[in-house]
Amino acid sequence: MDAPLQTQRLPAVDRMLRHGRIAPLLARFGHLEVVEAVRAELAACRAAGTAPEEARIADSVFDRLAARARPALRPMFNLTGTVLHTNFGRAVLSEAAVEHAATAMRSPCNLEYRLEGRGRGERDELVEGLLCELTGAEAATVVNNNAAAVLLVLAALAKGRDVILSRGELVEIGGSFRIPDVMRAAQARLVEVGTTNRTHASDYAGAIGPRSAALMKVHASNYAISGFVASVTEAEVATIAHANNLPLVVDLGSGSLVDLSTLGLPREPVVRDVLAAGADVVTFSGDKLLGGPQAGLIVGRKDLIARIRKHPLKRALRPSKIILAALEGTLRAYRCPDSLTRNLPTLRLLTRPKDEIALLAARLQLPMTAALGGEWRVEIVDVASQVGSGSLPVETIPSAGLTVISKRPKAGAALNALAARLAALPVPVIGRIADNRLILDLRCLEDEAGFLVQLGDLEKSA
Ligand SMILES: *Cc1c(COP(=O)(O)O)cnc(C)c1O
Repeated sequence: MDAPLQTQRLPAVDRMLRHGRIAPLLARFGHLEVVEAVRAELAACRAAGTAPEEARIADSVFDRLAARARPALRPMFNLTGTVLHTNFGRAVLSEAAVEHAATAMRSPCNLEYRLEGRGRGERDELVEGLLCELTGAEAATVVNNNAAAVLLVLAALAKGRDVILSRGELVEIGGSFRIPDVMRAAQARLVEVGTTNRTHASDYAGAIGPRSAALMKVHASNYAISGFVASVTEAEVATIAHANNLPLVVDLGSGSLVDLSTLGLPREPVVRDVLAAGADVVTFSGDKLLGGPQAGLIVGRKDLIARIRKHPLKRALRPSKIILAALEGTLRAYRCPDSLTRNLPTLRLLTRPKDEIALLAARLQLPMTAALGGEWRVEIVDVASQVGSGSLPVETIPSAGLTVISKRPKAGAALNALAARLAALPVPVIGRIADNRLILDLRCLEDEAGFLVQLGDLEKSA
């Protein structure tokens, strides 16, 4: 043996398993996990050439076990100011949606079973009635997300044929969803008309031919073209489509079931209006402005929805009972428009008054200052929240928050270290760094008590 003398004094695995601090962990974490953690810790000591006291080894073993027991997916405080943050899971669901999903998880349920008439049903039927009621559509179907909805609609209605779309609407959503690529994946042929900034009714009409399958409009969710611009309304494109016996397909991206301007928010297209304007099929997301689970909703004409539903891809893209239950729970809230901004977290957070957020900032300024220690100054600031997820990109919502500024010059590295400490808290706190300061937009902070607990932990971590 030529191991350093130091590490020859390390205890054996068995001895550590009988240690007073380790033995109780066996029942909690399981024998295998504890043995592995002890082995890993002893190996780390050997590699480092150290032999700590047994109590210290036991503490490290506990830390290893606790770290492994912590779930990968964890709740966080989203203080970025982006309400529907794609990286943070977009919409936070309503209690009703959570309850309904939990019920579906705990028990067998009538997912594809008709209780009246007792026979096999379609899982879509669970929410189709609600979707039709809320949008005025004849029929509806649901898939995993809106990207899947667009893919399925194009594959079912336009495979091997032409889809006519304005050059101003060749959207890319967050990297991997690009309209031309989705067309190719669906084996539809994209026929671009007009220019980036101007498209006219005659452009659509002139592109229609024997190979045409549909006219399409895509809502420019995450960008705006301004200046010398012209586009054709859904109603006009629908008129051209219908005169040629073709359907108009509209991808709304976010879409909304209610007119957000009545809630004091920037306007987004309302699904019901787009259908009323003549769109034959409309697709939109479940977890953007709708405020529900990740899902792609397809609503429109009965015959077209039936074709979409029959396509083999539908089976591959269908949502689970958990999602359908959460979606039903979410959609039901729209039957009571007066309490929407109370019941749906997305709309509640988006409409939260700035005064209320500023009062919260005032209450948290001192605790935050105390938790951070002498090196930092904490100020109350006006900030601008964003809806996020590509919704309403050019409009912001006035909000309030805290900004953390170093008292020292050239604090870039210290600022990054502070952001890392906040992200390492038991419930991570995520803000954003801009102009050499850390900004915490408090629009999405509802659990004030929980946040104060994190500040306590932050103070200890100094
Ligand atoms: C967000 C968006 C999509 C993709 O929707 P997901 O639900 O993220 O799959 C597609 N089209 C538009 C216009 C969008 O805004």
